[in-house]
Amino acid sequence: MSTITARPRTARRTHGFTESVIREMTRVANEHGAINLAQGFPDFPAPDVLKEAACAAIRADVNQYAVTWGTPRLRRAIAAKYARFYGMEVDEAREVTVTCGATEAMAAALLAIVDPGDEVIVFEPFYENYGPDAILCGATPVFVTLPANAPLEPERLAAAVSPRTRAIVLNTPNNPTGRVYSRAELETIAELCRTHDLIAFTDEIYEHILYEGVHVPLATLPGMRDRTVTISGSSKSFSVTGWRIGTIIAPADLTLAIRKVHDFLTVGAPAPLQEAIAVAMETLGDDYYAGLAADYRARRDVLHGALRMAGFACAPPAGAYYILADFSALSDLDDDAFARWLARGADGRMDGGVAPVPGSSFFHDPSLGRTLVRFAFCKRLETLEEAARRLQQLARG
Ligand code: GLN
Repeated sequence: MSTITARPRTARRTHGFTESVIREMTRVANEHGAINLAQGFPDFPAPDVLKEAACAAIRADVNQYAVTWGTPRLRRAIAAKYARFYGMEVDEAREVTVTCGATEAMAAALLAIVDPGDEVIVFEPFYENYGPDAILCGATPVFVTLPANAPLEPERLAAAVSPRTRAIVLNTPNNPTGRVYSRAELETIAELCRTHDLIAFTDEIYEHILYEGVHVPLATLPGMRDRTVTISGSSKSFSVTGWRIGTIIAPADLTLAIRKVHDFLTVGAPAPLQEAIAVAMETLGDDYYAGLAADYRARRDVLHGALRMAGFACAPPAGAYYILADFSALSDLDDDAFARWLARGADGRMDGGVAPVPGSSFFHDPSLGRTLVRFAFCKRLETLEEAARRLQQLARG
């Protein structure tokens, strides 16, 4: 008789996390004909200049692999962007890596720099990728809860540090809370990094979607340039989430390691689309970025008004394009059941509902998100007005 014991059919690295709830809710929305305010992607077109440039690049047969860490023209444009907006000097030859979206950027950077056994501090509520990214590195995420309207307390942050802490992940403007970290809060984080010799990984993908305050890259604070990995991308600034163009700015020694991981993960980002993003960065002026934020402010106000009218408790976010809303005045269901109920259309009373993301997917302890759901407002005003109508029907019950 055989004594062979079957090996587990899934590798242990994936056991520490579940599948993406954000992507799952898109499937649920499609199933019910719901308005998808779950996964954050625009339903309006990208600027013409990008579309024309992408078509032109394909017609010019820019069809083969680009330089692994990014086409020279795009890396030049990225360096120019950081000089223009933040006065940051960036060496395009040694400090820039272009990736397949900010998602790959964060994963590749963490894999390159964080070792198995390390600890990585992650603020929560968090965008759902950071914990799994740390786990894929064999590291342990350590969560520091930071509710939307509470200030960052230096003592609580310091208490999360252990001798094994290697890195901290920061996302500003924040998904899902909309928080824009103040200079004072960034200084607290910088001080922690300098004191404990930590590397900061900052996800700044919403840097141009801001309603209050200014965006300050952590890397511009004293002593932080050589210990910060600054991540961003084109998805949100140019409304092209499916193009998958992400960017990393990091000191040369870290960039060397990051480029190796990026190379073996994906070889490179789509070549013609890199050309198109370079054209966009070179061409679009301050009026474009001001218009982007102004348009989002109008969308934010429509959704925020609709949620308040329907009975949700929520505040208008300072940045990014999400509203984290408390539904406890509306329902006793838990966040997961409530999100699915809302997507279904409230037992058929609505013609398909409105799909949000359950709040627990932004917390390591699901109970912290039990009365919360997240709505994205990166949608045409007509879409948001129809969502408002459906939410109003729900409120009337
Ligand atoms: N960042 C967006 C969100 O939070 C999209 C996530 C994704 O699916 N990549 O919804």
